[in-house]
Amino acid sequence: MPYSFIYDLTRISQGVWKQLLESAYGARLHKLLGSHAKRLVKAFKIDKAIGLNLVDAITLVEDLIEVQVANKIQRDKFEKAQRKALLLPHCARSRMDKHCMADFKADIPTYDCKGCRDDCLINKASASAKAKGYDVYVIPGGSCAEKILKDNKYDGVIGVACGMELKMGLGLMKKLGIPGQGVFLTKNGCSSTSLNLQSLTRTL
Ligand code: SF4
Repeated sequence: MPYSFIYDLTRISQGVWKQLLESAYGARLHKLLGSHAKRLVKAFKIDKAIGLNLVDAITLVEDLIEVQVANKIQRDKFEKAQRKALLLPHCARSRMDKHCMADFKADIPTYDCKGCRDDCLINKASASAKAKGYDVYVIPGGSCAEKILKDNKYDGVIGVACGMELKMGLGLMKKLGIPGQGVFLTKNGCSSTSLNLQSLTRTL
């Protein structure tokens, strides 16, 4: 049944919308959206376009939805955070061999980017985040995130990673009670991965 053409959403407060979204998330309704995503993946042949098998492509779309919903829910709290960190994946360095001048500081743990290449995504992302007051870490895996977040008492964090790492990150944020925002890598792999700098800048 189509609903009436005239309605006024402003009569519902932002707080109620947020509660609605949180309840939907708690009830795992985004998983139902995932079954819709299955049809979309098939219809648009997304699996073939992005180079994944059908099952993995569907999982990826479900992860995208889950992270986006979590981002939305956490956004207000995240914006109020005073001390924020950006966690970047080391695989997005333009070079992962001896040509990358970054030292790995195991005690932190992070790669310390020396800004040796203007076209390096890590260099560009770090510069944007630092200009906005973020502490930036370039980490070899999600397991480093917990130590960084616990040692530094951040109250807001952005993670750039693949879907699987971001989903693990959601669990960590929940455990530590820190509002987070996830930004998907646009190209994944063990090296030469990519991120969309515009998406990151919007999230910062
Ligand atoms: S800009 Fe930083 S991350 Fe990129 S290659 Fe140079 S030192 Fe490594």
